[in-house]
Amino acid sequence: MHVFGSSGVRGVAGEELTPGDAMQVAQAAGSVWATDTDRVAIARDTRTTGRTYANAATSGFTGLGYDVDRLGVVPTPGLQAYCEAEGVPGLMVTGSHNPPAYNGIKLVGADGVELSRVSLDAVERSLTAELSHATWDRMGTDRRVERARRDYKADVVQSVDRERIADADLTVVVDPGHGAGALVSPALFRELGCTVHTVNAQPDGHFPGRNPEPVAATLGDLRSYVRATDADLGIAHDGDGDRAMFVDERGEHIDGSAAFAALAAAELGADDGVVSAVNASQRLVDIVEEAGATLSLTPIGSTHIVSRIKELQAGGTHVAIAGEGNGGVLFPEYRIARDGAYTAARFCELLADRSASELVAPYDEYYNVRRNLHVKGEAVRESMLSGIETHATESSADLDTTDGWRLDYGDGWVLARPSGTEPVVRVYAEARAPERAEELASQMVRAAERGG
Ligand code: MG
Repeated sequence: MHVFGSSGVRGVAGEELTPGDAMQVAQAAGSVWATDTDRVAIARDTRTTGRTYANAATSGFTGLGYDVDRLGVVPTPGLQAYCEAEGVPGLMVTGSHNPPAYNGIKLVGADGVELSRVSLDAVERSLTAELSHATWDRMGTDRRVERARRDYKADVVQSVDRERIADADLTVVVDPGHGAGALVSPALFRELGCTVHTVNAQPDGHFPGRNPEPVAATLGDLRSYVRATDADLGIAHDGDGDRAMFVDERGEHIDGSAAFAALAAAELGADDGVVSAVNASQRLVDIVEEAGATLSLTPIGSTHIVSRIKELQAGGTHVAIAGEGNGGVLFPEYRIARDGAYTAARFCELLADRSASELVAPYDEYYNVRRNLHVKGEAVRESMLSGIETHATESSADLDTTDGWRLDYGDGWVLARPSGTEPVVRVYAEARAPERAEELASQMVRAAERGG
């Protein structure tokens, strides 16, 4: 059992994740990093519990003798940019897309890249190891650093084609969902020459306007604002601003896989590598094939994707783009980090000569279904997974068990997997025909509910 799941440590604040846990994780990371550095950076998203966890983590580090740079509320990619620029490791307090009651911790290396599985294993081992506490005269101090958000914004502006975006004369509606992106993205897109309207753009850990997860069901306000303002694009982030989802100029939701496919199509060259998760869309598979690139699939979650990018790069592969259909996209040449603001800016570049709906039209021909099965208790969970396994093994489809059960039928696929962060079993299906996708998802849901 890993303490660090597919996207760090995550849980309901005060129940599954206590401030004591945050201190322990900081101490464990601090023990592993001790030989390389005497300074770390800490940032958080807008959650009401964020400051408590950041305080606990700060004490964990200073007690070991580290000095701590406290960046305050900054998107996760902003902390990563700071870590890379300063050459210090970092700790992010964030529940990402999870509901307001959740919080969590992500660890970032001094290269600005989230820790790989191997490094996380080392941190996990040191959770139970003897700590070498600093004596009173060697304990560290913490200081407030105000410039991280500004520097991050400047970094993104500098890294994209500002002229191209400004020339497109875009009107965009930014919906940071009350998360950390609220303090960066609206100003960023103004600097990129866009006319910017906002919705849910005041930082607020109660998330009064919408849930932090940017999906079609939570983005109704954004779609309305895009229509009301006659905007060219709607941009939505999750709670820590590492994801970007889009709404087209008609106020229609753009599927995350279609946006990812459009970004990949613009980025990919022959012999490039692409990394995605086991729920990768057929749209991506088609684009990769068209480009003559190679697709590498991992278990779902950014940790796995980041680890695979590094492996491929070490073997000499140029990884042009990576990510998932949930809006979490990485452009490894920029930084091996999911970055909602950068991804959205790159999407804007593609709108210079066509509308958002035209851009994604080639990737409209597939239909996605996603179902969340809420699990009440371990016995129900076991029964559900056993029902799914029976369905998977008895099926005539190709079975992939990289992460959960993926069944490929040729004209569509279905995947069932338990969430790493919530008491939920997720079922994904995709096919060219809506009825077929619904059918594949329903078969899987029925098998789970029937149990085993
Ligand atoms: Mg996130």
